[in-house]
Amino acid sequence: PESITVSELANRMAERAADVVKSLMKMGLMVSINEAIDADTAELVIEEFGHRTVRVSDADVEQVIDTVEDKEEDLQARPPIITIMGHVDHGKTSLLDRIRQANVVSGEAGGITQHIGAYQVKAESGAVLSFLDTPGHAAFTSMRARGANVTDIVVLVVAADDAVMPQTVEAINHAKAADVPMIVAINKIDKPAANPQKVRTDLLQHEVVVEEMGGDVQTVEVSAHTGQGIDTLLEAIALQSEILELTANPKRPAQGAVIEAKLDVGRGPVATVLVQNGTLKRGDIFVVGEQWGKVRALINDKGDRVDEAGPSVPVEVLGLNGTPEAGDVLNVVETEAQAREIAEYRENAAKDKRAAAGAAITLDQMLARA
Ligand code: GDP
Ligand code: MG
Repeated sequence: PESITVSELANRMAERAADVVKSLMKMGLMVSINEAIDADTAELVIEEFGHRTVRVSDADVEQVIDTVEDKEEDLQARPPIITIMGHVDHGKTSLLDRIRQANVVSGEAGGITQHIGAYQVKAESGAVLSFLDTPGHAAFTSMRARGANVTDIVVLVVAADDAVMPQTVEAINHAKAADVPMIVAINKIDKPAANPQKVRTDLLQHEVVVEEMGGDVQTVEVSAHTGQGIDTLLEAIALQSEILELTANPKRPAQGAVIEAKLDVGRGPVATVLVQNGTLKRGDIFVVGEQWGKVRALINDKGDRVDEAGPSVPVEVLGLNGTPEAGDVLNVVETEAQAREIAEYRENAAKDKRAAAGAAITLDQMLARA
């Protein structure tokens, strides 16, 4: 923004607004606390108070964050990121639990998975898959709205004894809007009333043409209860992932998306970040939304401390100066000064936006009253 209110300027300098008004008066400007002054005048005031000015713009932010395109030879295959969607009670949570369990049993001895918002499993073929642990359409859409595209494949869960329901249709629309391929898990196949064929024909009515009907959408009959078909589902996902040829460059500074964030009593602000490109390492300096930090520790989905996390790996990040929001993008930068400046710039930009929205409302209210 090219202007700033006197009170906001005073706030940012940690000076009294009345003193700023006085200083402006000395320059021959009669300005009240709530009025705005232009950037050049603000700079004079700042110097007058003996502070340093740092003007950061969107362009500067772009420069600091490494946006150079990856070279073909640096790209390596990365695991797919999967979101499970479907109608309520069709078995999303049960399926996520079953998939996680299956892995714990076959995985490292005593591997206790903790809920960090996402987890990785290994299919029988050895393919690694990353699952977002938060089923539900709200998370999917709000992340997309914030510019974080963190899903490569949607697993649509449809109960075999119930067929296509309103939220099934909603999920189909989300997946289509995001242009993300879908795999249908026909769940509760263990139930006597299960009718998987009805699910397939139902889907046809919503322009989801499954393989059995000559289309290209894979379906897998599963039971979250008995575990039937789970391995097949994982292989189907691995196959779909191969078709997508997902790649990333593990050698570059990390970029990722916040899946979950909270203020932990003992550990301070903690964010689960899904690394999307590059490798996040201990000691890395980063900016994430309006926050910044230096990676103090990385904890994986098994609860183990790790030194680094590559593409598609979910990790808890410790060392933040504040709590970011789900959907915020994390970028590694070179210096703490850069990280702090970008975070402050974003925070101020957000504040200005809110203030502008607030001012518009007040004006509207005044007009309404008049
Ligand atoms: P969500 O709302 O989609 O997360 O569904 P839940 O995972 O909470 O499951 C809803 C209900 O269906 C629960 O009572 C589950 O125990 C049951 N359920 C889930 N999967 C299966 C299954 O494969 N077979 C049977 N028989 N019941 C299931
Ligand atoms: Mg659930």
